[in-house]
Amino acid sequence: MKIECCICGELIDEIRSNNARPVEEGRCCAKCNTDYVIPARFELLRKSEDEVGSAAQLAKVWGSPMTILHKDAQPVSLKGLQSEHHNCIDCGYNTFPGAPPRELAEFQLNRDGTSPITFTDECEVYMVREAVWKAAGMEPYGGCLCIGCLEKRIGRKLKRKDFRRDHSFNDPRLPCTDRLRDRRDGE
Ligand SMILES: [Zn+2]
Ligand SMILES: [Zn+2]
Repeated sequence: MKIECCICGELIDEIRSNNARPVEEGRCCAKCNTDYVIPARFELLRKSEDEVGSAAQLAKVWGSPMTILHKDAQPVSLKGLQSEHHNCIDCGYNTFPGAPPRELAEFQLNRDGTSPITFTDECEVYMVREAVWKAAGMEPYGGCLCIGCLEKRIGRKLKRKDFRRDHSFNDPRLPCTDRLRDRRDGE
């Protein structure tokens, strides 16, 4: 059955829709889920941690198990939200050693409601603007690229403005490699 995404209004298959809370009451498309709902949930997680008061910094929040705040009745699927694994598809570098590959993450989410992820100094987890990803010949969630291989594909060094400032993956407080920090938080 087709329904309207409660955020952008696009017609989508109900069976493939997502719980849009806390952004809206209703169901939303995969794109809105990725662009708004997931970041909003992370934002909530972060806020709840801030309210506890202490300097339990973001690294600690991210280091603690990721909790799905609103459990959907249908099994959790991360298809279209997370690539199969986090290895750079060009050189094989694991860009997110602290996170399980998709299948394992789904298994954990369905069994426990949580899937632990940790950001480390080896992380190259980021979100660049669509145009940059496209220029690299990549599909959304078509896999991961390390910073070196992404730069090789687009033929230039990444700049601060290539990164989506509104995305929680680009939070300057998250641990990452020196070269990602240099690009993401630099000029
Ligand atoms: Zn939508
Ligand atoms: Zn690479």
